[in-house]
Amino acid sequence: MAKDNQFVSQIADIETDFPQWYTDVVVKTKLVDYGPVKGTMVIRPYGYAIWENIQKELDSRFKAMGVENAYFPLLIPMSFMTKEAEHVEGFAPEVAVVTHAGGAKLEEPLVVRPTSETIIGYMMGKWVESWRDLPLRQNQWCNVMRWEKTTRPFLRTSEFLWQEGHSVFATGEEAETETLNMLRLYEEFAKNVLCMPVLTGRKTEKEKFAGAVATYGMEAMMHDGKSLQSGTTHYMGQNFAKAFGVQFTGKDGVLEHGYTMSYGVSTRLIGALIMTHGDQRGLVLPPPVAPVQVVIVPIAAKKEGVTEACAALCGRLQKAGFRVKLDDSENSPGWKFNEWEMKGVPIRIELGPRDIENGKMTVFRRDTCEKNELDLAAAERETGASLAEISENLYRKAEKRMHERIVDADTLDGLLKGVDGGNFVRAGWCGCRACEDKVKEFAQATARVMDKENSAQKCVVCGKPSVHTVLFARAY
Ligand code: ZN
Repeated sequence: MAKDNQFVSQIADIETDFPQWYTDVVVKTKLVDYGPVKGTMVIRPYGYAIWENIQKELDSRFKAMGVENAYFPLLIPMSFMTKEAEHVEGFAPEVAVVTHAGGAKLEEPLVVRPTSETIIGYMMGKWVESWRDLPLRQNQWCNVMRWEKTTRPFLRTSEFLWQEGHSVFATGEEAETETLNMLRLYEEFAKNVLCMPVLTGRKTEKEKFAGAVATYGMEAMMHDGKSLQSGTTHYMGQNFAKAFGVQFTGKDGVLEHGYTMSYGVSTRLIGALIMTHGDQRGLVLPPPVAPVQVVIVPIAAKKEGVTEACAALCGRLQKAGFRVKLDDSENSPGWKFNEWEMKGVPIRIELGPRDIENGKMTVFRRDTCEKNELDLAAAERETGASLAEISENLYRKAEKRMHERIVDADTLDGLLKGVDGGNFVRAGWCGCRACEDKVKEFAQATARVMDKENSAQKCVVCGKPSVHTVLFARAY
């Protein structure tokens, strides 16, 4: 226990100082470091490996939907940004602009992309000619820049990594359907890959993407009861198609504007999974994205046969397709236990002379912190089963917490009490902006998503009939 405490004491208390806990965990586990420019972060190999696993999982899902990857330029002419009025207004406060290059002032300033609707709209306008070119579905994996004055690794940084998918359809109906299908894809991915339950729904006018007709989001509940927007999909109608001349000749020979939609998730997802599953010991990584799924720690490594048995087991598990690390460093087993627990590795296998003699292995599960003795001969099967159980357990635990912490309120005081208690609050809303602003001012909570059904009777602020039932929460 003494050793445990020595490590645990390096991480702030998760219940009483969650923000510091988060910072301690992301830095000490070497997921990230702070860049020299305020608002920037370095994603270190252990963090980047999680992102690569997220990419792999999402990319195959996109491709199955007929989406192709492409790459568009980082720099966008300033004039593009002003073509869609709402878009420019929404992004103006956070764009970075290049005014000088090659030792001279540029004729036209260039925007460092905050998102790529404009430049992709422009290019698609050149590529789309007839109904035969539609639908056109493209995605890019890239960085974007939205200026921030503070740095919260993975949650709020000026530059971050993401994917942005952009598609054009011949009809609004098809584009809207795709917008909802992508939301469902994200939801399935969150559940099965990040083991993270989410709530999905349409955003209010105030919270929607600048230039969209409708924005849909998925929200996840973090350990402290705050919400984290984990992905969004947008139906643009013809707004961007008209701004950038995305036109096609229909089957009837008539020239029409296309209907566009876009969707994105970012490295914020890494922040989301840390704050969903982490505990006092540090990270708890979901098996599907964990860079190391199994760590093997030799016990009494100097005893005859131990090193060889550990290497053999490592080889077997790698061959079976698991991401395995054999920690044969000079550190003590206790030190290694703490280190890999903090780094959130789902399974640790301890193998010593007695285990080998008995044909057993000691398996520690990071999610439950329980140890079990299992058959060494069945290591592949046992590992697969344990990883599946861990995924299942992480999801169930997070789902239970989320459902226990959704409360209803029909007064502003009730709403405040709910969010103060670390809950999401479901309440009626009349649909007017003033009431939404009042909730923000009074309870520092925002409308995360609107329920499909309007189950509430009255607006939580003004008491007029409810038009939408909204999930309010404090958000990252
Ligand atoms: Zn109202």
